[in-house]
Amino acid sequence: MKKIAVMTSGGDAPGMNAAIRAVVRYAVRNDIQVLGIQRGYAGLLDEDFIEMDFASVGGIMEKGGTILRSSRCPEFVRKETREEAAKILAKHGVEGLIVIGGEGSLHGAMFLEEEQKVPVVGIPGTIDNDIAMTDMSIGVDTCLNTVVDAIQKLKDTASSHERAFIVEVMGRSSGYIATVAGLVTGAEAIVIPEIPVNYEALGNKILKERERGKINCIVVVAEGAASAYTVARHLEHRIGYETRITILGHIQRGGSPTAFDRLLASRMGVAAVEFLKRGTSYVMTALQGGKIVPVKLDEVLKQKKSLNMELVELTALLS
Ligand code: ATP
Repeated sequence: MKKIAVMTSGGDAPGMNAAIRAVVRYAVRNDIQVLGIQRGYAGLLDEDFIEMDFASVGGIMEKGGTILRSSRCPEFVRKETREEAAKILAKHGVEGLIVIGGEGSLHGAMFLEEEQKVPVVGIPGTIDNDIAMTDMSIGVDTCLNTVVDAIQKLKDTASSHERAFIVEVMGRSSGYIATVAGLVTGAEAIVIPEIPVNYEALGNKILKERERGKINCIVVVAEGAASAYTVARHLEHRIGYETRITILGHIQRGGSPTAFDRLLASRMGVAAVEFLKRGTSYVMTALQGGKIVPVKLDEVLKQKKSLNMELVELTALLS
């Protein structure tokens, strides 16, 4: 293998730069040239490429976002578009492609190999932690720490004013961020897509906590379950005291990656190049039991990552 390409696609996630750095440096050490594709699949179609070398990825590990930038490219769902993409890669002598991104991006990569025979390796990079067969995706840990830090600050003001705070966090289809953040900040309750919300029971729980003498109340809501406004509307008349809403939004995507994400990204970046070098493609790098292993893309993508319900029980048990 003489030349590979790397791109980031879909929602950006902290740690993507550490993965790019690892891909480039490990490839260069193995005498493999690396083409950086800017702006995901859209940039691939526009041939928005840059040559990358050892020095070009210096000082990026600690940066949030992605230096290669990212995009959503709706036309990539069409087979003809992917055919064009494969031709462009062949024209530039690219023998393998590494795609760092979430479920959607990994689907694009899977089809590129399945139909167009472009050897691909995916690296799971998304703050949602909704990708199956890997214990963690790049960006999840940093996002969690950002959410925890924000909730901790809200707790200070919630205690001072005896208010209930409804905090909306990321998680379109997964309640992972809301559950873990709720668990480690001692939130009163979580509202997640996996469990239908019972406002009556939620209101009663908050009232009981108050009777017990608790003066702050935090409810963490995953965006895919309900909006913070809806939860507040349902709760306010039941609990009879003021609620305040905080939607954390895009600050959850940003920030310097944690040590965990930098390490995971570095390991996965190296593994991705190693897999391509060994002729192992149509796989995603996965963290399983502490090890980075290749898992088949079609197997990953036909599954839905389920939330560990023990975490949900623990949150209820300890709050
Ligand atoms: P995140 O989970 O962080 O939002 P993602 O990778 O899932 O990231 P998407 O917007 O779903 O983000 O997908 C990114 C891009 O991947 C899309 O804009 C499109 O170019 C490509 N893509 C998504 N789904 C498919 C599909 N089914 N077939 C081919 N390409 C796809």
